[in-house]
This record gives sequence, structure tokens and C-alpha cells, in this order.
Amino acid sequence: MEVVGRGRHSRWLALAAALAAGLALVAAAPAPAAAASTCPSGHVALTFDDGPGPHTPAVLDVLERHDAAATFFVLGHRTRSAPGIVTRQAREGHVVANHSERHREFTRLSNAQIRESVRATDAAIRDAGVEPISAVRPPYGATNSRVRGVLRDAGYAHVLWSVDPQDWRGHASSTIVRHVTSRLAPGAVILLHDYGGHARNTIGALPRIIDTAHSRGYCFGVLDDRGRVVAPTPPEPPPPELDDVAARGTEAACPEPVPAGFTDLDDLAEPTREGIDCLVGFGLARGTSATAFQPREPVHRVDAAVLLSRLLTYDAMHSGLVLPWPEGEEFTDVVDLSAERRDAVRTLSALGVTNGTGDGTTFSPFARVTRRDMAVMLSRLQDATVGPDAAGEGGRFFLDVPPELAGAAEINALADRGIVQGAADRTFGWSEAVRRDELALLLARHLDEHVEAGRLPAAEPVPVEERDEADGDEADAEGGDESDEADEEAVPAP
Ligand code: ZN
Repeated sequence: MEVVGRGRHSRWLALAAALAAGLALVAAAPAPAAAASTCPSGHVALTFDDGPGPHTPAVLDVLERHDAAATFFVLGHRTRSAPGIVTRQAREGHVVANHSERHREFTRLSNAQIRESVRATDAAIRDAGVEPISAVRPPYGATNSRVRGVLRDAGYAHVLWSVDPQDWRGHASSTIVRHVTSRLAPGAVILLHDYGGHARNTIGALPRIIDTAHSRGYCFGVLDDRGRVVAPTPPEPPPPELDDVAARGTEAACPEPVPAGFTDLDDLAEPTREGIDCLVGFGLARGTSATAFQPREPVHRVDAAVLLSRLLTYDAMHSGLVLPWPEGEEFTDVVDLSAERRDAVRTLSALGVTNGTGDGTTFSPFARVTRRDMAVMLSRLQDATVGPDAAGEGGRFFLDVPPELAGAAEINALADRGIVQGAADRTFGWSEAVRRDELALLLARHLDEHVEAGRLPAAEPVPVEERDEADGDEADAEGGDESDEADEEAVPAP
């Protein structure tokens, strides 16, 4: 993957160089209007409606390669399904705006329903750590004076478009290119869509649209809070590089790791294998059978709760940590689970390491744990065991973790402790599901840190024949709650 923002950045650097040159020449000649000479025809705006979706990353890739900024009018419910894509949009210098929660015609909604749809969508965008502009494009462009009044009174610009190739009809890429390039004009707002099967043709048309516009002296702008086309803000400089923690092992906790006997760990890096063996050696993690760990399976919330609770119990046995007695109302959706699982959820909730879901009466035990959830839980576990002062200041380490993102402090603190590193492109992937091997390695490193600090003793391996039964049967019986609802409903555009 390319380094984020490089293309557009180079344009900005060129602009900065041109400006500097212009300033140097100012005494000798009339100052050349550097910005204007970079974009002598002015700015036009690419806008993409109805995402984020499966095609959005390909749109972002094309924009990056061809050095163009865009404005994405996103739907609230799709933003909640794929927040990482919206984070990426903002990180790469694009603008995110509001296209309503579920793409209903505003002209058929009450004033209160319009306000709620817009509010919920902005909330979803902010939950992705992104500040939306205060501009709304009504679904289908269905609008009237009442809709405009409601949006204006709520503080939003009402945005439509000036160029509409109707890409949602499935026109060929060449048709889309011809329609758009024949209507380019300063301040043009081009309507495209990044959701649905037709988006392939749109993606096919993009390089020619962008290159043609550039060759005619246009630059690609973004919309602002008043719906005007303006020059994009240059992307932020990348955060500092992290020390390499990929090779960090668990030598303190497990000086002589004993292979746990799983036959499905061969593809994993050595530190990960040893981390799993280490946790199993401590009696903290178990396989899904005597010979399988299923390292690439996602972690469910209740699995994470059980692992963290075992770690806390080990801690309490050796450090004098006093665990709270679980009391109070139990979550309604854990009462049929095993005693260990119920106790784990109650203990962690009492400690504030995990919370309920929804209205707070449920735990959603079989929902997946995201990398952000994991960071938050591990950070709270650290607070519960060694106190909040030891959590680490953090700093900012990942391109896709803006400071406003909920959980950003916890993610950065984990990086600061050398427990997580993220990907080679300096992203953390906070919305991705955590796999069993990842959680095991992180917990093993967490444990290793505490052993190294002398808080906890190193492992006395449990002989294989004395280990408890495998985890996982119950989860299989539950069948897993595939709560990510398939979201392929066809929404007619725009
Ligand atoms: Zn739309």
C-alpha cells in the first residue's frame, strides 16, 4: 500500500516551492500568482454519495494515485458498518459530509425525522473520529422549501450538484467520462456514487476524468461548511515511527516456553507462537481442542472477557490485588452461559473493564471484539491493576487514529508500552476484528511487562495432561452471533 497522502502532498510541496519562488522574485517582477498558475482554471469538486461500501477503498486508491481530493456524502448506517473507511477518507485529505441515515426522501419525512436522520449520521461520522462539514445532500436530491428550511435552521448548508452523469444507471465508463468532461467549469460539483455494482464503471471513469481536468488547468477542491468548492487542506504530516515491536517476545514471563501441542500455529511468526504457548503455559488461554488453537478466528466479547478475567485472577493470586465481588443485575443475554463465562463478565463489569451494550442491560457476548475494543479493555485492565498513572501518555502513533477518536488515548498508550505496533503503513486498523492469535500475543506481552517489572512471577508451566478442557465448545453451540447484517440493499441514487 502506498504511503498515505503522498500524491496530493507532492502537489502541495510543489505549490509551496512555487510560492517560495514567487516570494523570492517579488521585488524583481510582479508576483506570479502561484496558486492560480497551479490551477489556472480554478477548482472543481468530485462528490461521492451513498457510501461507504465495498468499492470505496478502490475509489480512494484512484484518488490517491491521480492526486485528487473529493467530498464523500456518506450514509449513517453504512458509516457505522465501515467506520475505518470514513477515517481513511479524512486521513487522506478528503471531506466527509452528511447524506442522511438511511437514504429516505426528506420530502416524505417530518421535520423531526429529517433532523434526527441528519443528527444520527453526523454522530456516526464523529464516532469514526472524523469531523463532518456541516453540509447535507438530501437523498435523491428530493427537496423543497420545507426541507431547505429545516436544514438551514439546524445550521446546515443544503448541497446539490451541477454535473450529473447518472453513473448509478450503469452507464459505461466512457459515457460517464464524456458527460463530465464536457461540463467542466470553475466551481462545478460533480455527482458520482461509490456504492453499488455500478461503482465499478465510476471507478473506471475516474482516472480519465481527473487527468482531463488536470490537463485543462483544473484542480480538485472539496466542499466547505457552506457548500462552496474550496482548495483542500493538505494532509497532516505522518506520525512518528514506532520502535519495532514485531519481534518483541515474552522471555520474562516464559523463559522456556513449552509448546502447547497445537498443530495449526505453523504459519504464525515466532513471537506469536511463543506468546500463545506462554499464555497456555500459564493456564490462561486454551485451545479450541487439544490440538487446535484456531489462531485466525475472530474473538468474541465473552472469550475476551474470560481471558482477561483469568489474567486478573492470576494477578490477584500473586500481587495482592483484590477483585470486586460480582454483584448487581446480570446482563440478560449471559444467563445461559457457563459459570466461568458469567463470572468473567460480572467481574470485568464490576471493575469497569467492560461495559454493557445497547441500553446497558445486555453484553452481546458473541459480538466481535475490534482492535479498538481490545485496546480499551487492556488499558482499563492496566488501570485496574497498576493504576491510571501507569497507563502511559501515548502521543500519536497511527495515521488512522485521530485524537478525537474514542479510544485513541488507549490505543496510543498500548503503542507507547510497546504492546502494539500496527501495520507497515502506520495504520492501526482500529475497526477490524481481533483474531485469537493477536489477542493472545497482546495479553502475553502485557503479562510479560508485569513479570519484567517484578509485579508477577514467571510461569510455572502447567503440564499438558493437567490442563483444563478446551475452550470453544460453547461458542460453537451458540453458533456465533453474526450481528454484522449484510447490507446490500439497493439504494437508488443519487
Ligand atoms: Zn444518494
